[in-house]
Amino acid sequence: MPADLHVHTTASDGTESPERVVRLAHALGLDAVGITDHDTVCGVAPAQEAARSLDLEVVPGIEINTDYQGREIHILGYYIDPGDAAFRARIRELAGARARRVERIVDRLRSLGLAVTMDDVLRVIGGASPGRPHVAATLVRLGIVGDRQEAFDRLIGRGCPGYVPREKFSPVEAISLIRRAGGVPVLAHPATAEADHLIPELVQAGLAGLEVYHPEHGAAQVVHYREVAAKFRLLATGGSDFHGYAIHAHLGEVVVPTEVVAALKLQART
Ligand SMILES: [Zn+2]
Ligand SMILES: [Zn+2]
Repeated sequence: MPADLHVHTTASDGTESPERVVRLAHALGLDAVGITDHDTVCGVAPAQEAARSLDLEVVPGIEINTDYQGREIHILGYYIDPGDAAFRARIRELAGARARRVERIVDRLRSLGLAVTMDDVLRVIGGASPGRPHVAATLVRLGIVGDRQEAFDRLIGRGCPGYVPREKFSPVEAISLIRRAGGVPVLAHPATAEADHLIPELVQAGLAGLEVYHPEHGAAQVVHYREVAAKFRLLATGGSDFHGYAIHAHLGEVVVPTEVVAALKLQART
């Protein structure tokens, strides 16, 4: 039976709350859903609470955004010990860095003469982990751009006048952080990361899995990454990378057998 191990909620840049994601996953007949918000685990506890009375397992996770030579590399972490002090401290630092980045983006947009304030963006962010999608949504709401894509293409994407690079955090650092907190690090959507040459170094650092199945991976890429996973003895994971119904793939569109969940649990703390 299926498990969707890559799902975002309103705790980061998803449009559906953790509770609603759980209800939707249950209605779809999924056995397990992985809550993997960007740089935060705040969606995990509410999801677990919502799933308590349902026949659905919530796999606790996170997706840490890192950089490698100007490229964005995402590292998923499953079954991290939520009480690990070092992990919590580092995640708090990352949250601070995300907030500072959004503030700097808003400053830039204002210096371009656009009528957007940090208060406007904060209203969109709510209690979530702040990021560029919130700025994009604010610009849409204010009528400055027609849609989110235009915000990225014209204003806040890499190379645009409102672009601010994120503070550097390396994939190796993210992997060791997850490992030290008892979790299982997995390289997310390796095809979009174009990170094949990095994989041996990440395996050395403690990488345990590869996200072989992802909406952005074509059939040939799935075959390729299955081979890479086998070669380095990595778990082959997968998920929809669901962010909401208007954005990218649907919940449950990409799934893996629940045996993968059992394998992740075995890897945790070992
Ligand atoms: Zn990602
Ligand atoms: Zn994601």
